[in-house]
Amino acid sequence: MTVAEAYPALVLNADFRPLSYFPLSLWCWQDSVKAVFLDRVNIVSEYEQVVRSPSFEMRLPSVISLKEYIHLDRRPAFTRFNVFLRDHFDCQYCGHHFGSEELTFDHVIPRSRGGRTTWGNVVTACQDCNLRKGDRMPRDCQMVPLRTPVQPTTYQLQENGRAFPPNFLHHSWNDYLYWDSELED
Ligand SMILES: [Zn+2]
Repeated sequence: MTVAEAYPALVLNADFRPLSYFPLSLWCWQDSVKAVFLDRVNIVSEYEQVVRSPSFEMRLPSVISLKEYIHLDRRPAFTRFNVFLRDHFDCQYCGHHFGSEELTFDHVIPRSRGGRTTWGNVVTACQDCNLRKGDRMPRDCQMVPLRTPVQPTTYQLQENGRAFPPNFLHHSWNDYLYWDSELED
């Protein structure tokens, strides 16, 4: 790793929970150093790596926490990704788990029958199930979503995201992340 391309900092809210679990809230070192100088964050943990300029020297932050709490109770964005996250990346018809590149979304009430593109009418589906269902109504093809689709809260999406660890975890982040069985009850 060179300084230029790595050393991301895990960004925690003022309550020391990650701002986001999935994708994990990470800032590049330039942004985190800038935030330190602007006095917007506290340094919680540091890398060994030092950055120097003629006027200062500091170890790069590996974990920072915001000084001001950001409320996360806004409505989550209605995106494909968040629909997949709400549905745990499980096809809502066959129940199998897929990567996002293998998933699509399905209109429970087909658009051709007046179904709208909303949280309440869109579910995660694998391509096979999506094709199989086609333009049919759920009762006509016996394909009813495993979970009734509803708009999730940001908190629910955060909780779902905790089940998906990122590819790279610095050991200093472990105290703030909980990829464990407490989620599965
Ligand atoms: Zn399926």
